[in-house]
Amino acid sequence: MQCQTCAGYALKPVELAPGLIAAQCSKCDGASIAMLNLRFWIEQQPQDPPSASSEVMDVDDVVGARQCAKCQRLMTKYRVSNAINNRLDVCHSCDEVWFDKGEWQAIVNAGLITDLPAKLTDAGQRALREADRLAREKAFFAQAIGEGFDRVDEFRDWLRDHPNAPEIRRYLLLD
Ligand SMILES: [Zn+2]
Ligand SMILES: [Zn+2]
Repeated sequence: MQCQTCAGYALKPVELAPGLIAAQCSKCDGASIAMLNLRFWIEQQPQDPPSASSEVMDVDDVVGARQCAKCQRLMTKYRVSNAINNRLDVCHSCDEVWFDKGEWQAIVNAGLITDLPAKLTDAGQRALREADRLAREKAFFAQAIGEGFDRVDEFRDWLRDHPNAPEIRRYLLLD
């Protein structure tokens, strides 16, 4: 496989983590991994992975569309978390993931590896967008309500599970 970013550079096998083989470019340090290998490797890991580290990483993220190193088709970009701006490239034809330089380590450090295969699906992307929308709405109301928002938020959580929630909502709207 050739690196699709660096002309003339072949991808060489490398152990990204003990037991996880990827094909890496020696020029840009990007790496291509078969999703199947990644899923299998994750299953072999202890249930409680080492705690997330806040170490700052040197991370590249190529913004434009990337071609798959295996089949040269265009890859699809996927969000990993709403807290991380980097997006991973996935080839649906080969079930192959591309990590730009530092992306693998950044995802490991953020404690996002275990859920990664689930995130790299259309359902996973929808869930991320929905969480992002809720977070933005919450931030809007936190600002609009101002002081006491925490109490309102706590009350809202309590109300959600209350068997008489409809009556309580009607009561709150009484003049
Ligand atoms: Zn390269
Ligand atoms: Zn491909």
